[in-house]
Amino acid sequence: MDSKLLDEAIKRVERARLEVSKHHIVKIVAASKYVGSSEILELYNSGQRAFGENRVQDLVKKESELEALPLEWHFIGVLQKNKINQLLSINPSLIHSVDSLDLALEIDKRAQKEIDVLLQINSSNEESKSGVDPIRAEDCYLEIKERCKNLRVRGIMSIGALSDDKREVIKGFEKSRAIFENLNRYGATILSMGMSLDYEIAIKCGSNLVRLGSSLFKS
Ligand SMILES: *Cc1c(COP(=O)(O)O)cnc(C)c1O
Repeated sequence: MDSKLLDEAIKRVERARLEVSKHHIVKIVAASKYVGSSEILELYNSGQRAFGENRVQDLVKKESELEALPLEWHFIGVLQKNKINQLLSINPSLIHSVDSLDLALEIDKRAQKEIDVLLQINSSNEESKSGVDPIRAEDCYLEIKERCKNLRVRGIMSIGALSDDKREVIKGFEKSRAIFENLNRYGATILSMGMSLDYEIAIKCGSNLVRLGSSLFKS
């Protein structure tokens, strides 16, 4: 089984995390939106267990095709309210993309059991991105914690700035990290940031969960 891309990513994650601290553990979620179940199976055979999808239909389809495997499914995309029940039906391990109190309340209403979520924050303040405004993030987090009894808010997620300027990218990640550290005292433990093009920077800025797509699935 050729797992060169996964091995390479693991090596790079390892190098970056050790620059933070030997106690800084980073989880890799494979963003499998580019591929079908057979490629997911290949990566599973190389040891990968956590996979993320950004469309509910794709997630449900792949989950059912791979039902026999002990996979962890993450939802990382924009969640439309009319897809919440479908998403909950596959019992996702973590929903990364709760981007408003309103959406949290809707998920809470439909959930039959406790479900782990992250609050998505728009730390680079880009129009095109979803996520809570950084200024509102702490209040929103606490309100979800208070009002959504079926949700366990485990931390925050953000997407790096779409910029060639590394300083811009770092600025956004550091903003997320500051919010995350503030929320540690309310039980936040997951800081989901970093994708194929910026995961090493994200890890050095404190990320402990990276979502890797193209770097794992394209040669
Ligand atoms: C697709 C996607 C990723 C992975 O992106 P790559 O650049 O291919 O690594 C990560 N996070 C989200 C929310 C995505 O939609």
